[in-house]
Formats: sequence, C-alpha cells, structure tokens
Amino acid sequence: MPAPAGFDLSPPLSSPEDQALWANFILKLQSLYKPPLIELREDYISFYAGKFARIPFDGQNFLCFSFTITNSNINTCNDDGNDNDDNSDKQKYSHELWRVAEAAEESFGKERIHRWIDAADKQRVYSWREVKESVKKYKKPGLRQIFSIQTIPNKGRGLIATVDIPIGTRILAESPLFTQTSFTLLETLEETLKAKVSHLTPLQQSQFLALHNKYTAPYPLYTGIFRTNALPCGVDSPVGAVYPTICLMNHDCLPNTTHFWNENIQQETIHATRFIPAGSELTISYATSDPRDSRRQKLQNSFNFLCTCSLCSLLPSEIFKSDTRRGKITNLDSQIGNGDRVMNNPTDCLQACHTVSELLKEEYPGCYQPLLARTYYDAFQICITHGDQARATVFAGRLYDMRILCEGEDSPETEKAQRLRENPEGHRNFGASRRWKKGKGMVPKGLDEKEFEKWLWKLA
Ligand SMILES: [Zn+2]
Repeated sequence: MPAPAGFDLSPPLSSPEDQALWANFILKLQSLYKPPLIELREDYISFYAGKFARIPFDGQNFLCFSFTITNSNINTCNDDGNDNDDNSDKQKYSHELWRVAEAAEESFGKERIHRWIDAADKQRVYSWREVKESVKKYKKPGLRQIFSIQTIPNKGRGLIATVDIPIGTRILAESPLFTQTSFTLLETLEETLKAKVSHLTPLQQSQFLALHNKYTAPYPLYTGIFRTNALPCGVDSPVGAVYPTICLMNHDCLPNTTHFWNENIQQETIHATRFIPAGSELTISYATSDPRDSRRQKLQNSFNFLCTCSLCSLLPSEIFKSDTRRGKITNLDSQIGNGDRVMNNPTDCLQACHTVSELLKEEYPGCYQPLLARTYYDAFQICITHGDQARATVFAGRLYDMRILCEGEDSPETEKAQRLRENPEGHRNFGASRRWKKGKGMVPKGLDEKEFEKWLWKLA
C-alpha cells in the first residue's frame, strides 16, 4: 500500500548560518539528482512524487519533504496527478528519495531531521496544514515579471518596470546572500566574507562578485563589494546584508519605492510608493534628508557619483525652497522629539506634527509615506501620553495604512500599528498625564474633512 513518508526539519531555518547550510544542501541535491529525475522550477526543485516532494531554493519556509513510498501496488503521482504506468521504476524512485533525507542529515545533523513513515508517525513534527501553508510560500508568482534587469546609461545595471505598477505593490522580497556585522575587524573581514561567499551556490557567488565595487583602494575585492552594497538590516542595525537584486537598484533623491528590512520574514522588501509606469527605472534612496549640496557631497563621498536626479537638478530658486523645507522639517522634528515639550506643550507639538506632515508631502512627492508614518507615530504618542485615546486611535489607523503601503501586512511594524489601533491604551506612555483624557469612542462624527483635520491636530 502506498504511504506518505518523508522528513521534517525542526527547528526550521533561522540564522544566516542556516542559510549557508541550506545552500550547501541544495548543491548536494543538484549533484545527486539531475533532470529528468527532477524538474527545476523557478522557486523549487520538484521530485515528481507529490506536491510536497519539493525542495525550495530559498529554504526559509521549508518544514517538510514528503513523498509516497510503496511496497507494491505503487500509486505515486506527478504534480499534475497523472499516474505513471511503470510501477517498478516508481518503486525504485520513491526509495531513492530517502537520499534527500540523507543529504539533509549530512547538512543539518541527524538531530534536526525527523524521518517518518505514514501520516500518523509520532516522529512527525508538523501538521499537514502547516506543511501545506509552508509549501504555498515557495512560490512567488508574478513578482519576478514586474521588472527586468537592464544596463542603464552612466548607472551600470538597474531595474526597469516591465508593467505598470500600482502604488503599494510589493515589488520584491529578497533574502540576503549573507549578512555580516559591522563589529568584525577590518583585518579579518576579507577572509570572513570569502568564507561566507564560498558557502553560496555557484549562481549566488557569481551574483555577489558581479555587484558594483566602488573601491580601487584601500579595500580588497570582497570587502570592497560588501562595503559598496550592504544595506543595514533595520534602522541603525549593526548587521549589513547584500542582495542579488536589490543591490542593483540605483539611487534617486525622490525614489519611487521604499525598502525595508522585514524581521518576520527575514527579507528586505521593496514597495512602490507611487504609481510606476512601465518602462520607468525602479529607484531607492541612499541619501539623507540633508539640503542639496551636502546631500550630493555625501552621495559623492559614499557612492562615487554626482546625483543628477530631478530634485538635485532643480533651478536654484527651487533648490532654495526645497532646502528651506528640509531645514524646517529637521527643526520641527527636534521639537517634537523633546520629551519636556511633549509633557508641557503638547498642543504645540501636535500642531508641529501637522506642519511636518504637510511639508513632507510637499518636499517628498511620491515618496513621503515612510517619513509620514514616523510623524503619525509621533502624533499618536503625544495624544496617548495625555490620555486622548480618540485621536490616538485615528493616528494609529493612519500609521497602519502607511505601514501596509510601505511594508506590507507581514511586517512587524504593521502588526504593531494594528495593535495600537485596536488597543491604544496598551502603549507604554498611556497614563503619563490625564490632560486630554478622552475615550476611544469620542471621535467626532459628521465633520467635513477640513473640520475633522482641525479637530484631529488641535489646530487653532
Ligand atoms: Zn538627487
């Protein structure tokens, strides 16, 4: 009788070291099995033994490898459900698949690979439902056709939208080739990086080595590539990561996408912050909120190019206006961040948040959302500190909308915004003052947009 058999990986992959072990495991499988024994799909290797007989190239969602094992009367199916007539070959093949478990044991250790035969086996770690959900994530249909990698004059390679991309679209979610902390001494960094790259697949190794290196000196090759391309895994994180695709994205001071390290899925995501017509280049911002000259200087120093984006190329009178707005935003932000002011002059602080939100929309057309999210969070904190749950709920709702757009539903920041919206009094600052005490249900109804904004921001 046919019975499902296979193995579970527990605990599943979590660390960068795990990713390296996974790459090694894939290499092993590719030397053991070649088409037509397997089929190489875009996101996984299929073993023609049922829909859970798949090994994804990116192992972070992997829980279980399962296939049908038979002693007689074999009934294994390929992915389309078509029975194969040649039973003895199938029997042989299904037993061959234990070799996948062996390769996994060699890569991850026997204690982490739980072999089982038949669905009720007590060795099973995961339920079918969990396995089914994990397998769904192997596929990312549609994402890769959104853009193509092309050579762009004076910029090297870059990403070009191949279709019209609506605002809020997740254009990419990409796992790092590897990560590296900034604590490593420069003398040992080159060897550390070389060792990490040596664990990658041949394709990934060539992707890493093909990334731009802006240094001719003083850094050796691997260090130069890493320092040119690494993105921090989160704001102020000491961990940097390099990506095969995201690191090809060029800079614009008014980018059309935003990038974000998503701790939940351990990937860097790219979301469209405005409608992007087909044929446009997809850009991110490497720069700061500085005025034009110092911003350009920093880009020149850090990345070796003179920015000629639409903002940097404005007429001098327009550049003056832009720089003035940026100066105002910086000033107001420091007022909003001042704890004493928030306690003693909360109305001023809330109004300052309103001014910042207006300035951001003016200064960062089509890319203000990540910055505006921060301002909404500031406004939320001011209100909740003084016990105003009504306004806090509105700001948490706006914060949530911005997070969804910039980071997606699976981001920890989006989840946090959702919690704040549902339960603003759960914030640590709640109850510091009762000055504005107001219940959640006290949001006024029937106001027009202008009146509502006036109420919300306590405008005079
Ligand atoms: Zn620029």
